[in-house]
Amino acid sequence: MSFEKLGLSTQLLKAVKEQGYTKPTPIQEQAIPVILEGKDVLAGAQTGTGKTAGFTLPMLELLERSKHLKHHKGLYPVKTLILVPTRELASQVAESVELYGKFLPYKSAVIFGGVKINPQIVKLRKGVDIVIATPGRLLDHISQKTINLSHVNFLILDEADRMLDMGFINDIKKVIAILPKERQNLLFSATYSDEIKKLSQGLLKSPVLIEVARRNTSSETVKQAVYHVDKTRKKELLTHLITDGSWKQVLIFTRTKHGANRLCGQLESDGITAAAIHGNKSQNARTKALDDFKKGKVRVLVATDIAARGIDIDHLPHVVNYELPNVSEDYVHRIGRTGRAGKSGEAVSLVCVDEEEFLVNIEKLIKKDIPKVWLKGFKPDPSIKAEPVNLGGNRGARSKPRGGGHSRNRNNSNSRSRR
Ligand code: AMP
Repeated sequence: MSFEKLGLSTQLLKAVKEQGYTKPTPIQEQAIPVILEGKDVLAGAQTGTGKTAGFTLPMLELLERSKHLKHHKGLYPVKTLILVPTRELASQVAESVELYGKFLPYKSAVIFGGVKINPQIVKLRKGVDIVIATPGRLLDHISQKTINLSHVNFLILDEADRMLDMGFINDIKKVIAILPKERQNLLFSATYSDEIKKLSQGLLKSPVLIEVARRNTSSETVKQAVYHVDKTRKKELLTHLITDGSWKQVLIFTRTKHGANRLCGQLESDGITAAAIHGNKSQNARTKALDDFKKGKVRVLVATDIAARGIDIDHLPHVVNYELPNVSEDYVHRIGRTGRAGKSGEAVSLVCVDEEEFLVNIEKLIKKDIPKVWLKGFKPDPSIKAEPVNLGGNRGARSKPRGGGHSRNRNNSNSRSRR
């Protein structure tokens, strides 16, 4: 299958060609024709599958096909609304919209909190066709009447599972309630929980179901390994792996913001350039850290789960779980940062005795055993006994995940304020 056969305009094909894409990914192959037919879609696709182009390309194509529709007086109405869970994902989707739409005349705005609202208002006033937004800041614009959503005929919820995890369900419902009833809806989600099922039933009309990778399976192109090591020696092992393997670009996950800062400082003191990205950092600091990492100015980016959500770095070769996530699904999301769109990547997890139970739950979820490594000189001391894991801020938290690790543990891991 080639892009030419999907029914996209020459301007879009040109933009795709500029990106060097030779053929559509499976999600693009399946989703694009269905979306162009005007159908609602429920897509189970993780990041790294090419899902962003999978909805952006047909969305732009449909805008192009409806360009004869008249403009309106007053605040120029938005036609496409893309809701996403995080600022980083908003920026990345916006980048894709710009990239694929560069030969088309449509304007877009990206809207998220943590930055001044006025520049967003100015942009919206000038008129935009496409808005990419996180729900909270979008509601601010709605209540200030600085956005006109009365002509939205295309709604996309990207990473809907994450939006629900982050507690956005009521915000999403409020937004949907003010949109015109006649519209096309797409819902993208990496996992298919009961909550997603409920949301999709209320939102989608006779949706076409598309699933590209099996749910909750880890990417086939990622080589995974677990290094068993004592907690106190993780930093030493990490430095060893980075320097010995001459790793140039490494995304490292910690469970807590504090842990991310601390590790960053420790790596710097070992002469490894590093930056941290998490919820306590200002938006500008987060953008700068990500930019420096992408450009190779810093070798290591240390991130917490929420902050790293949706981070899209072309050909990222290494992901390290400095600490295993207590929510098993986060493991799949984390390692999905590498091995994207068919490229190979490596995901290494440093696991101490306290985290054995997390590992068991992760392997249950991904339905396979991760190869184990006991590196000479770093073998764990068998006399060290497991202790409860500090999940950051929640003093009573124990390492035992509820529901066998398959359901999300909101109290311990998913409140926005904690990451
Ligand atoms: P996504 O799943 O949307 O986050 O995309 C993951 C990565 O795949 C991005 O870096 C895209 O640039 C890349 N990508 C998207 N579509 C294709 C394609 N057809 N061929 C090769 N790479 C692609």
